Amino acid sequence: MKKRILLLAGGQSGEHEVSLSSARSVLAALPRDQFDVTPVAISKQGRWLPPTDTRQALENGAAESGGDLVLHRVASAEGYDAVFPLLHGPMGEDGTVQGLLTLAGIPFVGSGVLGSAVSMDKVMTKQVLASAGIPQVDWRLAVRREWQRDAQTVRARAAELDFPLFVKPANLGSSVGISKVGGPHELDAALDLAFSLDRRVILEAMTTHKPRELEVGVLGNDAPTASPVGELRFASEFYDYETKYTEGLAEIHIPAPISGDVARRVRELALSAFLALDCAGLARVDFFYVEETGELLLNEVNTMPGFTQTSMYPKLWEAAGIGYSELVTRLVELALEQR
Ligand code: ADP
Ligand code: MG
Ligand code: MG
Repeated sequence: MKKRILLLAGGQSGEHEVSLSSARSVLAALPRDQFDVTPVAISKQGRWLPPTDTRQALENGAAESGGDLVLHRVASAEGYDAVFPLLHGPMGEDGTVQGLLTLAGIPFVGSGVLGSAVSMDKVMTKQVLASAGIPQVDWRLAVRREWQRDAQTVRARAAELDFPLFVKPANLGSSVGISKVGGPHELDAALDLAFSLDRRVILEAMTTHKPRELEVGVLGNDAPTASPVGELRFASEFYDYETKYTEGLAEIHIPAPISGDVARRVRELALSAFLALDCAGLARVDFFYVEETGELLLNEVNTMPGFTQTSMYPKLWEAAGIGYSELVTRLVELALEQR
């Protein structure tokens, strides 16, 4: 019997378009003899689009309007064997959709409510990983109310970390709202920007002028495996939105040109983080590597990483001998697995 799969894409975050292009790849790759796939695009307003509008959105690469209210669609989704919530960022990757699907009793690809919510939040991630003994950069939390009422305290907290430092909204992705702050004179603008996007903001120290950036894929549920390690190379100051999504500005190197010992540590730390955060199915775990000192610091865990044919996560598994179609099939199987 063919499995009926609901593929969700688009959504309300800044990564709407990225999600739709990932979904086009997944839709083309799920084997038709095993799966009967229904794509449903979610508009930027959070409404779930009917079939013809979804097809159009997948072709156009964006769903601006139309559609039904969320709950109406979930209720009629009960006939599905599994859902693939191929959504990035808030209202998709952060436990919200996962909660809805859990309530509806439908198995789904990827982490559950807890793993999704904690991994999406850069502050909660840091706290959980610290307690698991995983090395990370030094950081501080600031809340919007503090910034509005007592900016001086927030500035002093930032200064404890030294400049340059990074200012980021706690719950976003794709480098949206992230600034590299060279000195005190740039701090207020960075905090204003981050607080315009989130109530909670994380301030992060830098380890070195420009660390190397290593990424590794994790696949599995409670006994996960790690892929080979990949490296990102780019000329820009940091891996910002433009560098991420402009063709040709960043290169992927798989395997990363690093020693076997560093690769082994990256993979071990990635698996520990995956388990500590209660992730499931898949995650891409990203690191900073300071070559001079050998220091390896975990940056973040993405529970629904970019998923086009040329994205890092599928490429990492391809290097391990698992092709794109096999990978998405495996993910659906993991969603259906009893844990
Ligand atoms: P996102 O979830 O939006 O991808 P990240 O935390 O991964 O956010 O930050 C985006 C990019 O900013 C990183 O890939 C890296 O290039 C740079 N960056 C972020 N934090 C630091 C840091 N503490 N030190 C050095 N570079 C950083
Ligand atoms: Mg991220
Ligand atoms: Mg990142």
